[in-house]
Amino acid sequence: TYDLELIDVGKVYDNGTPAVIDFNLSIRKGEFIAFLGPSGCGKTTTLRMIAGFESISSGDMMIKGERMNDVRPQKRPTSMIFQNYALFPHMTVRRNVGYGLEVKGMAKAEREARVDRILATLGLEDIAERKPDKLSGGQRQRIALARGLVVEPDVLLLDEPLGALDANLRKAIQNELKLLQKKLGVTFVFVTHAQSEALALSDRIVVMNQGRVEQISPPHQLYTRP
Ligand code: ADP
Ligand code: ADP
Repeated sequence: TYDLELIDVGKVYDNGTPAVIDFNLSIRKGEFIAFLGPSGCGKTTTLRMIAGFESISSGDMMIKGERMNDVRPQKRPTSMIFQNYALFPHMTVRRNVGYGLEVKGMAKAEREARVDRILATLGLEDIAERKPDKLSGGQRQRIALARGLVVEPDVLLLDEPLGALDANLRKAIQNELKLLQKKLGVTFVFVTHAQSEALALSDRIVVMNQGRVEQISPPHQLYTRP
């Protein structure tokens, strides 16, 4: 069985914009998928439908065989990481990372154990008591990743998460994402308009254009127009 299935998924916004048309994709557990395409082709809309932040106009979205169309975002086994990190500036790194578990009402001992584990995985122990606004872009991105992963999602959704980083840092975080994929077995869905990034990271690339899927292929078979 597949971890995540999109079956004839479509999105028409209230103003009539057909943002996504007949999107079909099945993703295996632990796979790294990139949505690649120019601005406005429907990548973010698709990601937001998977997360539950945007309603699905037609078709079905399944996770582990269960239909998710009407399931609230908090009840889905997904986590989303945003380009702007969306960290709480007044909370320490540790509290930022643990906040989702706190809101869920997880007991303190278990919460702290989980937070410690993910801080160690991402090499954030030394800055755990600091506040995000004094930290670098790379550190903030790692904190956002830790916060997404600490809830132990089946599917991690990343919306252009490396766009604000310089080239060296981008490369470093790309490598970390690949290590996390292997180590944690999490399914990644990664939105980017940068072909090089999709090639470097993905098991399969979904090329989108004007709301439609143009091709789905592993990096070495990616067809690009002359
Ligand atoms: P991106 O290209 O990274 O998806 P955009 O700048 O296109 O970001 O969109 C930023 C925000 O504006 C998003 O929340 C998106 O849903 C919203 N948005 C984009 N296009 C429109 C539109 N035509 N009408 C209303 N909201 C829009
Ligand atoms: P991408 O992520 O590939 O840049 P989006 O999914 O953000 O593309 O946008 C797909 C299309 O939907 C674009 O035409 C965009 O303007 C439109 N769109 C995005 N968000 C909204 C919105 N909230 N309301 C209306 N149209 C939107």
